[in-house]
Amino acid sequence: MSTQESSPISPSIISRADHNISRTHISENALKVLYRLKSAGYESYLVGGGVRDLLLGREPKDFDIATDASPEEVHKLFRNCRLIGRRFRLAHVHFSGEIIEVATFRATQEAAHDEEDGADIALDGGGRILRDNVYGTLEQDAFRRDFTVNALYYDIRDFSLRDYVGGLADLRAGVLRLIGDPETRYREDPVRMLRAVRFAAKLGFRLHPHTELPLRRLSPLLGDIPPARLFEEILKLFLYGFGLQAFEGLRHYGLFARLFPRADAALTAEEQGFPLTFIAKALASTDARVSEDKPVTPAFLFATLLWEPVRRQAAALEIQGVSAGEALRRAAGEIIAEQITHVALPRRFAAPMIEIYQMQPRFMQRTGKRPLRLLAHPRFRAAYDFLVLRAAAGEADKELADWWMRIQDNAAGEQHDLPGATPVRSRRRPRRGRHRHETSQPA
Ligand code: ATP
Ligand code: MG
Repeated sequence: MSTQESSPISPSIISRADHNISRTHISENALKVLYRLKSAGYESYLVGGGVRDLLLGREPKDFDIATDASPEEVHKLFRNCRLIGRRFRLAHVHFSGEIIEVATFRATQEAAHDEEDGADIALDGGGRILRDNVYGTLEQDAFRRDFTVNALYYDIRDFSLRDYVGGLADLRAGVLRLIGDPETRYREDPVRMLRAVRFAAKLGFRLHPHTELPLRRLSPLLGDIPPARLFEEILKLFLYGFGLQAFEGLRHYGLFARLFPRADAALTAEEQGFPLTFIAKALASTDARVSEDKPVTPAFLFATLLWEPVRRQAAALEIQGVSAGEALRRAAGEIIAEQITHVALPRRFAAPMIEIYQMQPRFMQRTGKRPLRLLAHPRFRAAYDFLVLRAAAGEADKELADWWMRIQDNAAGEQHDLPGATPVRSRRRPRRGRHRHETSQPA
């Protein structure tokens, strides 16, 4: 080992014959970008989740590329390219249905500091990275990545892998390990705590003890992350098929309380009761939908996560004489207003979420024309699914949920329509306008 800081560390190089990544598993668009950068004389590597997931025999969510070309140089090479990000400047190469993310090699904190070129890396008083735009070498790029298994580089020149940080050994052992000193790395970017839980849940990996140890203590650092960024992370944690595992991880390390404090307080107050069962069942059913390729929505997710605090607050309002629907609307408004100071929730998701809540008491009205009207509501299916989960958790009447299942089957039969499609066709149009009026909230 050299004592000189600047001397390069040689990576272990795994030749094509010794790993299982084949070009047929890499998207054509990613290959196009890799080859075009190479023929323009730049280095280009596939890196991150794409390499990790292919090595594990999984289908990557997206493909990330690392290069020594600057974002501006990448921009010149691709017509369909946009530069994004201030905190972390990146090139997005757009293809139909796919975006390939191209990142220029970044220097690590120390390297950037040594070169007195640190003007483009900015840290706040707590060590958090505010900007990270000092470019570096491949080796430096490897060390500033988060986990060892995310820092494997696939070289398009000879299809070999480069491993500077022992990522391959960790991958084979099923271990998620932060590169460098964990506490420093979490302080630089507290979202790495969420990424640790996410990758552990997604890959079924365990956290290395040093990576795991600071989590609970550092969880308050999430309070400094902009709510919009946390919203994106929440979707990646909960809507990709491993939400229940992710939820358990977040709760275990005290991270959930930082993201959804009111929901967490309600769960902690009643650890064994239906609130926890309800969320667990909701997440399990979302995971099942994802594995069946059915659509899932942030509105439904947030509706389930916040149901317990909303339900409690609405119950208190009802005692004061407010009607059930109105109580739910007000309670939801208050809980959401508080919640978005932690995790953002775009209005287009908040509105349907409130509708799902407000439809719950309407399921109790089973006489006259009311059930048919409810069936025709554009949000009926989501609200009914919500009722089924409540019943499964023991919070709503099981007989009620069954009744609504039979009613839908009957209505579907009569209308020769599919269950799940809004069954009462003839009533749909006039009712729709009316419901929109009834349920839409003033902005
Ligand atoms: P997936 O795309 O499956 O969610 P990923 O590992 O590809 O997982 P991305 O968010 O796409 O995650 O990021 C690509 C790569 O960029 C990561 O694998 C990692 O090497 C690096 N990276 C991303 N976010 C961070 C971060 N906050 N700190 C350090 N490195 C990061
Ligand atoms: Mg990725």
